[in-house]
Amino acid sequence: MELEFYGAAREVTGSCHILRINGKTVLLDCGMFQGRRSDTDRKNRTLPVPVSEIDSVVLSHAHIDHSGRLPFLVTQGYTKTVWATAATRDLCAVMLADSAHIQEKDAEFLAKRHKEFVEPLYGMKHVVRTLELMVGVPYNKPFDVVPGVRGTYVDAGHILGSASVMLDCTEGGETKRLVFSGDIGRWGLAIIRDPVPPVDAHELIMESTYGDRDHESVDGARARLAEVIRDTAARGGRVLIPAFAVGRTQEIVYNLHSLIRESAIPSIPIYIDSPLAIDTTTVFELHPEVFDQSEDMVKKVKELFDFPLVHYTRDVEESKALAHMRGPMVIIAASGMAEAGRILHHLAQGASDPRNTILIVGFQAEHTLGRRIVEKAAMLRIFGEEVPLRADVEVINGYSAHADRTELGKWIDAVGAGSPNLKGVHLVHGEISAQDALKTALLAKGFSVNNPEPHTRIAF
Ligand SMILES: [Zn+2]
Repeated sequence: MELEFYGAAREVTGSCHILRINGKTVLLDCGMFQGRRSDTDRKNRTLPVPVSEIDSVVLSHAHIDHSGRLPFLVTQGYTKTVWATAATRDLCAVMLADSAHIQEKDAEFLAKRHKEFVEPLYGMKHVVRTLELMVGVPYNKPFDVVPGVRGTYVDAGHILGSASVMLDCTEGGETKRLVFSGDIGRWGLAIIRDPVPPVDAHELIMESTYGDRDHESVDGARARLAEVIRDTAARGGRVLIPAFAVGRTQEIVYNLHSLIRESAIPSIPIYIDSPLAIDTTTVFELHPEVFDQSEDMVKKVKELFDFPLVHYTRDVEESKALAHMRGPMVIIAASGMAEAGRILHHLAQGASDPRNTILIVGFQAEHTLGRRIVEKAAMLRIFGEEVPLRADVEVINGYSAHADRTELGKWIDAVGAGSPNLKGVHLVHGEISAQDALKTALLAKGFSVNNPEPHTRIAF
């Protein structure tokens, strides 16, 4: 039995690892490399092994850096099974379609701007074919990946449907359990359950995204959200929230709903101005079986995402009409880093009004408009126009879906306690500084740890 590290090895995106056993080859994730096109395009068009050799794919969750190259596998002729939880499969239906749309638009843009012909990485027909290959399985129910490999998903507590996978690998009469953490979530996140640390691992592939820092607490984030809404409403302003459509939008809507029920914030209208966020919310509503049943609101409320104050604006005319409305309101729109999408229209119109608040709830990469806002630049450039930034800017870091340093420690402690035969911990999915910090912490706890380079192979 052999494991090879391929994508998200010493980096964050492109999650993909290769398991070889009994003459078969299994991919764990098939994610997109994200970043500058010049750095990632060739990597995204290169398969880890020839497609004819791949016998099965086991997917951890729907985020594009884990699932985004599945349709590309299909363009290369892949026709076998892709395993996922049922909620992951349904989220992929929405997210891969969006990704195909982006690929096609990018190719069109390059053709127009640079007279450069680029074949899109894949299109909608490949997404449809991918969905045909995806088989949804529940948590805790074993499934046969290839002869000699039995998989079981447990909840990773990261986004809807996210999983860690335990792979019981049998070769030559010997069985070893390989565990792939996927992305590890947080304890106490709204709607979704807490992470379930796997047990009886022999080898562990573990993510390390925030191995070097701690977040604001989940409860702290909710309290700050309430404060921002109260203050802005008192000024008669709008709260503009750039947010990714999947996960964070639903979490904030759920938090707003619970705050309204507690009368902790005034009853002001909330607009979800994003077709992708609306589609994703529909997928959430289809999967109450994976909601955290210990949460009071999940137990008591039938319509979690649909309450009198929330409005979902799908078409462009409705979106434009928001500009002419008066009075305090909350607007949540993509993109999360304010680089594109409907949030730009709201910022162009609202950033200069000191009554408004721009609320940043996610990581803002360098060279993005979101980063300029966080840095409180005096002027913002939106649609080629200079807009003075006079709105209040607030940042809440507690809405991350990733475990922080302390939570990763809690997770590995539980895995270690339940895995007397754990031999090696292989850190992936993190920048070098985060991996080094986590490695030092895990070595101090007595684990055998490495952070493998791409193409490193280990026999187990
Ligand atoms: Zn993720």
